[in-house]
Amino acid sequence: MSNTKLGWAGLGNMGTPMVKNLLKAGYPVTVYNRTKEKAQEVIEAGATSADSPTELSSVSDIVLVMVSDDNAVKEIFNSENGLLHGDVAGKLFINISTIAPATSQFIYESCKTKGAEFVDAPVSGSVKPAQDGTLIFLAGGEPNDIERAQPLFDVMGKLTVNNGAAGSGSAAKLAINYFLAVTLQGLAETVLFAKANGISTENMLTIVNEGAVGSGITKLKTAPILKNEFPAAFALKHITKDLRLATEQGIDSPLAGPVYQTYKAAMDSGLGEEDLMAIIKYLEK
Ligand code: NAP
Repeated sequence: MSNTKLGWAGLGNMGTPMVKNLLKAGYPVTVYNRTKEKAQEVIEAGATSADSPTELSSVSDIVLVMVSDDNAVKEIFNSENGLLHGDVAGKLFINISTIAPATSQFIYESCKTKGAEFVDAPVSGSVKPAQDGTLIFLAGGEPNDIERAQPLFDVMGKLTVNNGAAGSGSAAKLAINYFLAVTLQGLAETVLFAKANGISTENMLTIVNEGAVGSGITKLKTAPILKNEFPAAFALKHITKDLRLATEQGIDSPLAGPVYQTYKAAMDSGLGEEDLMAIIKYLEK
């Protein structure tokens, strides 16, 4: 059992399994989720519930945040009943959500003004690595703050990569998610092209997965493609958000525009709540 009191805001697809691993490792965890009922699963696993972000930070030494996007992060930190309302001097705040580097820097400054510390640490890896404790943390912040966070990253992940100042973790995350988006659109287009020429989807996925271009992610998405069922591990709306952030961050390489437009059109066609691999359903139409 650890003496460090943890707070956690955001119990979506990623937050819930990550909190369960922290509880399993013996940390006392207090949680806050906007929709209170969604906290039930981790409360049953031993977490305590807070009614607001302010209450959450008041009872915690370190607070971790895993919510949808920039607006949600700003609201959780800086609103009237936000994490930074009240005396937070000496506390460490860690944002794991995927947001713009500029927003990470803004939150870093907000924390500093209140005498608190901040690390940005978005993760590479989806629900399965979150359950298995094998995420990769892409950290940005002051070295001693990252060191303070390290035992938690070690529980939830297999590797931490330090990228520099606060905001650099978010920049690294936008880059790796661009690669993810290109890879899965490429996989979808490949399978559909093969199908149009009489090659079964099963055969094409075997050819992909058994060869040099096969990867962890192509293997992970094989069963959903074969079943044509895409429950969200990583929602298509979130990768579209990440491609928008990458565009705002300056990516203008040849594939970047078309890939962003494809995911955006898929989201606009109603696939936002499904897994990002549902891009194949949009492309097949
Ligand atoms: P999710 O399942 O959609 O959950 C989103 C969470 O954010 C929910 O707890 C939601 O609360 C909360 N939220 C949204 N807007 C809010 C607001 N204005 N105020 C307070 N809370 C708010 O998302 P996820 O898949 O866990 O992903 C979370 C973050 O991690 C995103 O930035 C995503 O891009 C990133 N990420 C996801 C994956 C993945 O594979 N899923 C992998 C790496 C990184 P409610 O329950 O009230 O809606």
